[in-house]
Amino acid sequence: MTRRLYYEDQYMKDFEATVVDLLEFPDTLGLVLDKTAFYPEGGGQPADTGLIEARKFRFKVTWVKEEGKDIIHLGSMEGRISPGGVVRGIIDWDRRYRLMRMHTAAHLLETAVEKVVGTAIVWGSGINVNDARLDFKARISSEELPKIEEEINALVKMDVPVSARFVEKEEAERILKEYGLELGKQYLALEQLRIVEIKGIRADPCGGTHVSKTGEIGQVKLLGRKSKGAGITRIRFTVVP
Ligand SMILES: [Zn+2]
Repeated sequence: MTRRLYYEDQYMKDFEATVVDLLEFPDTLGLVLDKTAFYPEGGGQPADTGLIEARKFRFKVTWVKEEGKDIIHLGSMEGRISPGGVVRGIIDWDRRYRLMRMHTAAHLLETAVEKVVGTAIVWGSGINVNDARLDFKARISSEELPKIEEEINALVKMDVPVSARFVEKEEAERILKEYGLELGKQYLALEQLRIVEIKGIRADPCGGTHVSKTGEIGQVKLLGRKSKGAGITRIRFTVVP
C-alpha cells in the first residue's frame, strides 16, 4: 500500500521515498514507492508528471495510476535501482498547480451555474492543464455565459478557504446538508469519504487536489458552451494567468 502524501499536503512539491518494486510493462516501466506525492489519474483530474531520482538513477514520470492500494509511476529510466533504494521525487509543479486551480474552479462553476440557471446537475467532467469541461444536465444559452463568468469570478474574489478532509459517511452527509446538497448514491456504500469544502459556498466528495484559498485560482475565463443533446450543455473554461 502506497502512502498518499498528496492527501497529507496538497502543496508538497518534492519528497523522499523508498523503492518497493520495479515493474516491466510491454511499453513502459512502473516504479512503486512506499509513499508518493504524485497524484494518480482519477476523479476527472489527470496524473502528475515529474522526476524520481537518486545517485546514478533517473526515472522520468510520464503518468501515474492507481492499482488497488498501490500507486504506480509509469515512465522511462536511466541507471538502476533496487527495492530498498532511497529516491527523491520531484513533481512538475507548474503543471500540477494549474490542475489544482482548474479543479477548484470546476467546483465553483457548479455554484455559478446554479446561481444563473437555477439547477446544476453535473453529468461529466474533464480537467486539464489549459482546458477543462463540465457537462451540466441543464439548458444553458450563450447569453447566460457572461453572467456565469461574472458569478464564478465573484466567488474566486471572495478568497475563501478550501479544505479537504476524510470524514465518516454520516459526517459527510451532515456537511453537504449545510449547503443544501445530498450525497450521491455512488458514495453511500463507503464508510469514509474525502470532502472538499469551499467555506460558505459548497462541499463535495472529491479525491482531487485543490488550492487552499479560492483567490489562488486567479481569473476564470469561460471558453464556450456546446449542446450535447438530451438537455446536456457542456461548458469549457480555463484559468488565467
Ligand atoms: Zn473534484
